[in-house]
Amino acid sequence: MSNPLLIVSNRLPIQIAKDHEDGWQIRPSSGGLVTALRPILKQYGGSWVGWPGDCGDAPVDELLGRLGKDLNCRFHGVGLSPELVEGFYYGFSNETLWPLFHDLLGHAKFERPKWLSYVESNRIFAEVLRNAVREDELVWVHDYQLILVGHYLRELGVHNKLAYFLHIPFPPPDIFARLPWRAEVLRALLAYDLVGFQVQRDLRNFTQCVRQFIREARVSVQRQISVIDLPGRRVRAGSFPISIDFKEFDSAARSQAVQDTAWYIHENFPEQQLALGVDRLDYTKGIAAKFLAFERALEKYPDLRGKISLIQLVVPSRQDIPEYAAWKQKLDELVGRINGRFDYRGWAPLHYMYRSVPRMELLGYYRASEICLVTSLKDGMNLVAKEYCAASVDDHGALVLSEFAGSAPQMREGALIVNPLDREATADAIHRAFHMSREERRDRMRRLRREVRRNDVFRWVRTFLDQVRPGEEVHTHTPVVTPAVRDESTAAGE
Ligand code: UDP
Repeated sequence: MSNPLLIVSNRLPIQIAKDHEDGWQIRPSSGGLVTALRPILKQYGGSWVGWPGDCGDAPVDELLGRLGKDLNCRFHGVGLSPELVEGFYYGFSNETLWPLFHDLLGHAKFERPKWLSYVESNRIFAEVLRNAVREDELVWVHDYQLILVGHYLRELGVHNKLAYFLHIPFPPPDIFARLPWRAEVLRALLAYDLVGFQVQRDLRNFTQCVRQFIREARVSVQRQISVIDLPGRRVRAGSFPISIDFKEFDSAARSQAVQDTAWYIHENFPEQQLALGVDRLDYTKGIAAKFLAFERALEKYPDLRGKISLIQLVVPSRQDIPEYAAWKQKLDELVGRINGRFDYRGWAPLHYMYRSVPRMELLGYYRASEICLVTSLKDGMNLVAKEYCAASVDDHGALVLSEFAGSAPQMREGALIVNPLDREATADAIHRAFHMSREERRDRMRRLRREVRRNDVFRWVRTFLDQVRPGEEVHTHTPVVTPAVRDESTAAGE
């Protein structure tokens, strides 16, 4: 891969803050994507297009220019009005696509004005891109907020290679079929040259949708890549499980500061094992299911009482969506009820913190905990599971992992895999993790760490980009339905 990259993501990977002494400051955010791409940008150069967020009166362009020099990358901010952000991001992206793609139909809203905001925002992104893109750049679009961008780029006459990666799951056909705009969304995905999914489950669901809804498509498989032939062109799709920078987590977790933090955390829980949960506040994460399974474990196995505590970090998220606020209240009540039920000689089983923690503190929690509980109802990947293993430098941690997390297929040999909706089985897994021998913990954790070390985030980037080989054909036209003005007779090719 030697073409420069043009990365497109909903948010630019930046943090802007005003420092009283030095004025405005900008720095890259600590997300996995920027970590993974930084070395490639440094080496080959490139650009990044995204919404800079609400920056108040900050001199955004000047700040972006300053950061761009450091990272060998040109940043382009996409301007979106607050109304568009409301409809496109909070609305269609997070109230329609997010729940639908996580198979949680009951949470999904289908509102046409919000769909139209999504269409409009994706079109604005494409226009900014058309002006920013250079001839030899590979355009790599990220995630569910921007599915239609490739389609609009083709419409605007951009002939660069287009790649797309979906960070969240892709639903099976009977769930996807509920989306009133399924034809537009599916056909827009077929405007890219390469479409990447997290795991085989998502790739399989996508190709099944293509077979079912796009009559003229022919799907075949060549060396684990699905090849979709359409009249006059070819789209390829594959699964590329995202990961973390193992070395960075591993070495930071060995630092004295993290060791001390871990020691202080555990000091507050003498003669107990710590079970840890780290999740954004989101109904897909199965936090309530985790609390109920933990409650069941305490009920069923009295030997756990007073001997184990669950520390649950809940990272605030999407606070502007009312459903998320209601969800938080439910969790608060559940914690109160469970702690009230088991309160025993000053021991409270559940410690629930609703805040975001700095990286070193998070590593301290990872290192301090004998057990990590990941109980997502469905998850694109779940990086917490991988970070916990990378930070378990003493090989003493046990991972209880939902079978519905994208990380489960890679981690099933070392983790205790559970269906989080099976409260009884999850409670049994907690009990089993608690009593797991030192040897079994070590063997399992070593396997897990080997897996995460080998398949780190840099390998993810390489494998994905290797699939966009120079010399592969490039689109000349894209016969897709224009999303905003849908012709009912051509919907979904049905
Ligand atoms: N994380 C964070 N702040 C915190 C706690 C965790 O930024 O206070 C990070 C954590 O290190 C991980 C990410 O949030 O990288 C969560 O990623 P995951 O894939 O588990 O779930 P997502 O939130 O992306 O759905």
